[in-house]
Parts: sequence; structure tokens; C-alpha cells
Amino acid sequence: MEDRILGLHHITAIAGKAKPNLDFYTKVLGLRLLKKTVNFDDPGTYHLYYGDEKGSAGTIITFFPYEGSHPGRAGSGMATHIGYAVPEGSFDFWIKRFKEHGVSHGAPAERFGERYLPFKDPDGLQLELVIPKGGDARKAWETSEVKADVATRGFHSVTVTLRNIGATAMVLTDIFGYKLLDQQGNHHRYVTDAVDHAAIIDLLLLPDANRGDGSAGTIHHIAFRVKDEEVLMKYRDKVARKGLNITGKIDRNYFYSLYFREPGGVLFEIATDNPGFGIDEPFDQLGSSLLLPPQYEPHRDKIEAVLPKL
Ligand code: ZN
Repeated sequence: MEDRILGLHHITAIAGKAKPNLDFYTKVLGLRLLKKTVNFDDPGTYHLYYGDEKGSAGTIITFFPYEGSHPGRAGSGMATHIGYAVPEGSFDFWIKRFKEHGVSHGAPAERFGERYLPFKDPDGLQLELVIPKGGDARKAWETSEVKADVATRGFHSVTVTLRNIGATAMVLTDIFGYKLLDQQGNHHRYVTDAVDHAAIIDLLLLPDANRGDGSAGTIHHIAFRVKDEEVLMKYRDKVARKGLNITGKIDRNYFYSLYFREPGGVLFEIATDNPGFGIDEPFDQLGSSLLLPPQYEPHRDKIEAVLPKL
């Protein structure tokens, strides 16, 4: 267990304007703003993190909001749908809430014996609320409007759209220890038994799909979770031995990371639990101020002047 891939760590997507993104994820969906920082490669752009109370792996979604970006298009070679686990009986609350806030949503449907409710964020990112068969015991982050009896528990699954799934499935099974659980139509469900939650990757086989256009409303990469840097580097070897190019260890301040593009075209990351989101502010104040890495601290005034007001 100790040295396995522990499901999803985080998902990073691209947004348009920052303020509607913040309002949607914290107010409408009721997630906690975990961290307000900047893109380390482009400090004039925010990097916003949302998740549960402590930023537990498997709950973290992050965005780079580019104010002037064009709408992207989900397609093959991309992670295209994010599933959030919610409690049994919560769909009525959510459908009412989506209507009140003008959120684009579909009708509840069923896949792999689980009910799901599709909806979109303000940039068109495809999301789903899913009622997991076995429930979800994770502690919910509560807000004044989204209480624990209806709140999201973190990721249920992510769907990756591909023209053919063989090589991507190989990465999941032979390197990451996932198993094919079931197939329904063109959805192929892979799951790891290393964790109870955020353990599912669905591969959606669409042989004629166009390639995606990575801009606002699309997923940039998905990150898989490992315990620490020692395990991280073991996976670096495993990936490299399969002939795939993988980066060296990168310090992302709140975790350590490796990146590689899987053969289907999707950017995969592997990220550690350590050191976590408490490294630069106390847990009760997460997200309350703009945090800059040391190299940008001397330029704080200029950076704050450029960033849009939230
Ligand atoms: Zn990442």
C-alpha cells in the first residue's frame, strides 16, 4: 500500500476570468478556497486551488484563469469530465441550486450502476455529481449554503477521452496498478484498490473525436497521488523503463511533482502528499491572502497591481 499510486491527487484546468471561477467553485459548488497564488511561470496570472478543509489529495482542483483566453474545446487526448462524489438524495438540492444560479446542467442519468448529474462551470468545463454505490465517508467542507448532507466529498472519477485506449490503459494497469473494472458502451472503467475514494479513471473511447483545444474550460493535466518523494522517484523509474519521457522532480511548494505525457496525449503528473497546504499559512486561514514564492516576493506590489481584483 505504502508505495502504490493512491488515486487522484489533483486536477488542473484552465479558466477564463478569475472572479466568476472563484464565485462558482466557492459559492455555487461550496468548495474551500485553499490557496491564492500565482502561476510560477507567469506571475501575472493567478493559480487558484479549491478543495476540502485541509486540501486533502483527491479533493483538489486548481485553475489558471487567463482573463482574455478564448473558449477551449474538450476532445481526444484530454481529460474531459470530472466527477464529484455527493451523498444519496442530494440531486434535488443541486438541480434547484443550478437553476437559481443559471448553471448549465443536464438530466440525471446512470452509468456503471451509479446516478450522475452532468453540469458545466462558467467556462464550459464538464463536471458531474455522482452518487457512489458504496457511499463516500470523507468529511465534507460546509458553507452557509451547502451543508454536509448535500456537499461534495471530493473526486469520484475523471474521464479521459481517447481515439484508442490501449496504450493509456497500459499506463494505468502496468505502471499505476489500476484494474479494468467494467465496460459500458464506450466507457471503460479502471479502478485502483489502493484507496477507497478518487480511485476511478474512465477511459471514453471515441475513435472519431477531434483533438481537444486546450484553452478556457478544459483540463490541463491530472495528477496521481503518492505518499512521499521516495515513492515518487520509484515511479519515475517505472515510467522511464516503459520508454516514456518524464521530467525530473519539480518543487510545487505544496507538493513535489513529476510530469509525463501518456501515449494517448494526456499530461499526467505524479504528486506527493508532502509537504501539504499548511506550509505557508495556518489551516484556519487557507486562501485568505495572496501567497507568492520567494522569487516573486520583492515584486509583490507590481504583481498585485496586474492581477484582477477578486
Ligand atoms: Zn498539477
